[in-house]
Amino acid sequence: MPDTLAPARHRIALVGASIGGSLSPALHEREAVALGLDYTYSLLDLDRLPPGWRLRDAVRRGVTGFNVTHPVKQAVLGQLDDLSPDARTLGAVNTVTVTDGRLAGHNTDHSGFLAGLRHGLPDIRSERVVVVGAGGAGSAVAYALAVTGARVEIADADTERAHALATRLTTAFPDAEITNLPPDLIPTALTRADGIVNATPIGMTGHPGLPFDTRALTPRHWVADVVYRPLQTALLTTAHAEGCRVLDGGAMLVAQAAMTLALLTGAAPDLARMREHLSALTASRTEPIHD
Ligand code: NAD
Repeated sequence: MPDTLAPARHRIALVGASIGGSLSPALHEREAVALGLDYTYSLLDLDRLPPGWRLRDAVRRGVTGFNVTHPVKQAVLGQLDDLSPDARTLGAVNTVTVTDGRLAGHNTDHSGFLAGLRHGLPDIRSERVVVVGAGGAGSAVAYALAVTGARVEIADADTERAHALATRLTTAFPDAEITNLPPDLIPTALTRADGIVNATPIGMTGHPGLPFDTRALTPRHWVADVVYRPLQTALLTTAHAEGCRVLDGGAMLVAQAAMTLALLTGAAPDLARMREHLSALTASRTEPIHD
């Protein structure tokens, strides 16, 4: 009998489309090394998987946990045995644990956004917040803010999408005030809002520009971006010049990755160390991808 147990082997895979340039393998694996884990993080690109492929096919080949990204955050729900309450309400997962053969879905996008916001902008007021973008990231951000009891106004160029998200969150949080907002009314909403979050792709590499009319920003506003390539977006540059407190998309990305790593291994990642690593990675790589 060996007197010490062999360290657990963690074989993690990211499932999604167009993930070839993902930062996640480097971000996860470097932190896992620092934590002394036996951990690998590989890519399972849907473009290269056979039709009908399922998560369990990878489990049979030794995968012990998953990150899940665009376009399958919702599509994998039917393959899971269990869902965390948050993932059930959000209707999307980004992490799947495998325990005794059971696949359980979790969502660390919303908790990652909130942790990043609290860590990066402590002491801000966030009773009224505008969220621009009602897609995957916007849903997680709006959900996270609704959990805190904030009044959330959701704007999307696709007004049906904003309306659907506001309706879904109102059903989940009947006491919360969550409404949809026509994008042209963002400046008006800013006169009563404490902060605003960009959850559209505008500002990322290949999608230049500003996601909304920034002329109503004043120094009493905080501005958060979910875009992390680049970390310094045109929105954050503009908002900072207006005197606003700003938070880049790296805060959400790192906190989300740390929470996923913790769920998959039980270890306690170091946020500051991961953040430093992300900054180095984004400085050296610029291609747009899904993480
Ligand atoms: P998505 O396509 O699901 O949703 C984007 C939404 O933005 C769409 O509903 C679209 O109609 C809307 N939109 C686009 N331009 C707009 C504009 N000018 N005004 C209002 N609405 C507009 O995309 P997604 O998966 O939610 O990703 C959005 C961004 O968030 C991407 O840049 C992605 O890389 C980033 N992201 C970051 C993190 C993180 O951890 N920091 C996590 C997930 C996604």
